[in-house]
Amino acid sequence: MSDTNSNYYEFWQETILRIKETLPAQEYTTWFNRIVYIGSDDKKIILAGASQFILDTVIARYRDLLVNTLSELTGEEIAVDFIVKSLSEIQEHKKQDPTTFMEPPLEAKVVQPSKPRNSEETTLKIKQESNLNYSYKFTNFVIGDNSTFAYNASLAIAKNPGVSYNPCLIYGGVGLGKTHLLSSIGNHIIDNTPELKVMYVTAEMFTNEFIDSVGSNKMQSFKNKFRKVDVLLIDDIHFLQGKDGTQEELFHTFNNLYESKKQMVFTCDRPISELKNISDRLSSRFERGLNVDLQPPSYETRVAILKSKTEQRGSAMNEDIIDYIATNVCTNVRDLESSLTKLIAYSELLDQEISLDKAKELLGTLPSLAANANQTLSIDTIIKVIGEYFNVSSFEIKGKKKNKSLIQPRQIAMYLSRDITEFSTTEIGTEFGGRDHTTVMHAYDRIESLMKSDEAFTNTVLKLKRDLMNVKR
Ligand code: ADP
Ligand code: MG
Repeated sequence: MSDTNSNYYEFWQETILRIKETLPAQEYTTWFNRIVYIGSDDKKIILAGASQFILDTVIARYRDLLVNTLSELTGEEIAVDFIVKSLSEIQEHKKQDPTTFMEPPLEAKVVQPSKPRNSEETTLKIKQESNLNYSYKFTNFVIGDNSTFAYNASLAIAKNPGVSYNPCLIYGGVGLGKTHLLSSIGNHIIDNTPELKVMYVTAEMFTNEFIDSVGSNKMQSFKNKFRKVDVLLIDDIHFLQGKDGTQEELFHTFNNLYESKKQMVFTCDRPISELKNISDRLSSRFERGLNVDLQPPSYETRVAILKSKTEQRGSAMNEDIIDYIATNVCTNVRDLESSLTKLIAYSELLDQEISLDKAKELLGTLPSLAANANQTLSIDTIIKVIGEYFNVSSFEIKGKKKNKSLIQPRQIAMYLSRDITEFSTTEIGTEFGGRDHTTVMHAYDRIESLMKSDEAFTNTVLKLKRDLMNVKR
């Protein structure tokens, strides 16, 4: 594609500015931040996104809008082409180009149940066999800026399993809704297409069953069990780190299901690239399809979640208490839930509404709140937490070795020490095995610049930062 004859870049910029004004902010960010302008041709601009899912959605929802706006601005008939590029290429382009996104037009793709619904009884039986937790549904998942993309991808999969986005990986820290979304996919499929066989397992269950089958000559029935499903949902695949035999078995299960176009969805507590002791061929398969992340909810989303949960429990909670929890519990949805549970239980016990002062008193003991108290986190604790995540010892982080696998954890630990404690770079250097303060400054700059260019890396550092905020001191 040549940019020489016709360059529509400026028109593109104006187009998305206009679109931004007309769309809700969240919608714009969800979709337009995920596409980039990569060039123009004669009467045509070319946009790229990191997956077919993104492009399908943008095309269905916004192609007309884009074409009309561009044509109006240029006074010519402008076409828009879309291509899939790797995430790193997209990020590279994004550095020079602002963008946005929106809600998907997935309705067109809805798979109609091919036969009348089964009776409730049969559905219940199917659900039991699937291992799914029935209470996790799309309808009780509160969508926020942190989760719109993952939610939309999950819903698209549930509506059309095995077709477009296979496999899919949902990743994110603890308590952010991975299991909830994964189970919603399964429940939705069973409710709407009960003839499809859905199976939910945690990676731990998969591992244990595999080990049992090896010991008891039940290998074939194990293989059949997992290879005869239409939809395989495996939760928490980080559990497979270092479990070579199980990884090998999953690799073959994967290939088998993939070839027969069966839907697979996995969850993981981190991006695949950050797993340790996972075979390359297995991790490349996890990465093959659509990878979506769940981020911690913003204040507004936390309020929405708290309100929705309060209502679901048939309870009422004063606005000032909701605001207090949403302001102070910033970690994840599970912590929001436990704050609420505690207050509701207390209020039911006394059969009276809770005052803000009482709420403060009751919640003061929660680790997620206590972490906000200004206690100093020790550098040793930081080193320990970062080391655990990267599977290296504190001793190695403080040591002199310059292996690649040590340098980054060490630099992240230095970065976070400087970022979240009041210690000077000299003090930090001393704690890191007697290093000079310039080493700490260099590490800080290095991590900061990596974070500017690499979104997955940034997410990891932020996750670790949150983990540290939660450490009991
Ligand atoms: P994870 O598997 O990522 O650790 P879970 O899916 O178990 O997290 O979520 C923790 C709790 O928070 C669950 O009770 C879940 O229902 C709830 N939850 C998480 N995200 C949401 C959300 N967006 N809306 C409503 N509830 C949520
Ligand atoms: Mg989970």
